[in-house]
Amino acid sequence: MSFPFTTLCPHCSAEHDRATKPFNEPGSLPGSLGPGDFSLCFNCGQWSVLDRNDMLRRPTSTEARRIKHDPRCTRIRAAWLLTHHTST
Ligand SMILES: [Zn+2]
Repeated sequence: MSFPFTTLCPHCSAEHDRATKPFNEPGSLPGSLGPGDFSLCFNCGQWSVLDRNDMLRRPTSTEARRIKHDPRCTRIRAAWLLTHHTST
């Protein structure tokens, strides 16, 4: 489920009018993007992190390592690559 929620990608500046949590951590609410959650930009395929002001920012080096080693992030980005590159 996605929610009306305007965000701006810190990588490509694409504006998104909806955002959804790509996966749920134990104890978190399903679908609701919250501070510290990762978000994949549908336009450029880069990961961002929601900050406490509901703004997306680039991941810190620690977060980037978590993203790199999280198989859920790897699978989601692989799916994005498939849809992005097979449509041309
Ligand atoms: Zn982007």
